[in-house]
Amino acid sequence: MTVITRFAPSPTGYFHAGSYRTALFSWIFARQNKGKFILRIEDTDKERSKREYEENIIDSLKWLGLEYDEFFRQSDRIEVYKKYIQRLIVDGYAYVSDETSKNEEVKKRFAVEGKKIETNQLRASVIRFKNPNKKISFNDTIRGMVEFDTTELGDFIIAKSENEPVFHLVVVIDDHEMGITHIIRGEDHISNTSRQILIFEAIGAKIPQYVHIPLLLSSDHSKLSKRHGAISVSEYRNKGYLPEAMVNYLALLGWHPSDDKEILTIEEIMDEFSLERVQKSGAIFDEEKLKWFNRQYVLKLSDTDFAEHARPFLPEWVVPNSDTFNKLIPVLRDKITKFSEITAMLGTSGELAFVRRLPEYEKQSLLWKKNPDPRNAQTHLIETGNLFKLISVDSFMANVIKQTIWPYVEANGKGDVLWPLRMALTGQEQSPDPFISAALLGKEESLKRLYEALSRLRN
Ligand code: GLU
Repeated sequence: MTVITRFAPSPTGYFHAGSYRTALFSWIFARQNKGKFILRIEDTDKERSKREYEENIIDSLKWLGLEYDEFFRQSDRIEVYKKYIQRLIVDGYAYVSDETSKNEEVKKRFAVEGKKIETNQLRASVIRFKNPNKKISFNDTIRGMVEFDTTELGDFIIAKSENEPVFHLVVVIDDHEMGITHIIRGEDHISNTSRQILIFEAIGAKIPQYVHIPLLLSSDHSKLSKRHGAISVSEYRNKGYLPEAMVNYLALLGWHPSDDKEILTIEEIMDEFSLERVQKSGAIFDEEKLKWFNRQYVLKLSDTDFAEHARPFLPEWVVPNSDTFNKLIPVLRDKITKFSEITAMLGTSGELAFVRRLPEYEKQSLLWKKNPDPRNAQTHLIETGNLFKLISVDSFMANVIKQTIWPYVEANGKGDVLWPLRMALTGQEQSPDPFISAALLGKEESLKRLYEALSRLRN
């Protein structure tokens, strides 16, 4: 048997991590079994479905690296569903139901409750499923035996007309037609399963294995939702998270490898993953933890890959591939959690703004607070300047600079020497250490700024 799984989103909004975690599990399971993974866009709700959301789903899957083998859009398949509806009616599993008396009841109820009813919501007739009113049970991979009594569902609607099938019907027809062997989906669909099994039986189809994945919860244990600050996966991409970090984190929400290792490549995840070991309880989506994962992946990037990811976030004055940018790479890497932080750091009031130009600063700020004598600041700036001159332009790197001036620093006091130096180089209190700052500026510019500070101190 070839395993075939699917991700079947309704494109009625942007999806947060929970949906993509389900998609990831579904994708991993298909790949582990050398099977197929299908993307099926469930857009039969014409009013709420939008192409923009569909495109966002496609982009997000691509970004995460969850490539699919086949693509379907339900609105393209109305003819297929129509045949099934006709057959269900002919075979006596469904019937056209006259709704006029029901509509009157609804109208009366709404009138009593003082609510307004849209007349286009009322249909003269719909197609209903003839409910055999029985007990349904199925063995869910994660939840075990689940039982439902279908009686309370009544004769539920499966289509508003032959051309307007509703959700439960099309899900079943497609799962059958596409040969889905494992329905891996969110637990919020578990109560839909009884209706869907009735329809599977009516069309004479084999019932797939159900795998209902527990929901993601926010840190206060409420259901993860937009209202609780859950953002769409594409927003994480826009903020400069790495897809590998996202996939790694998503895989560990409700599942973990036997040895509790956290940083795992997709190959390692694929080797170990099993649906049976997905936990029954909801998993907590913790943005801080995601940041931690991202940081680990940022640290692992090669300089070239780092530069590639950073590029979209660079302000105009930083030219990709330039000498300045190459020097900035290790400094940025050391500081960021996600790439969007680069924009602020290199922006006008960012901690690396001084690389572009020396900010305005007060002469007073050159003085070390524990020894605010301007003559001290002057002496130390002159001496460090002299030491800078000993270093060649090509060797003007943070470690060399540090080695060269360190004995002088130790002999004269860290604050006394390094504070005026930091301020002279950067003009800002929030900045990298003076060795890194000097290296970023280069020998010539560093010396220029030291002299500039000296002339301020003299005036
Ligand atoms: N279209 C449904 C949704 O977006 C999923 C249906 C299913 O997976 O069976 O939630």
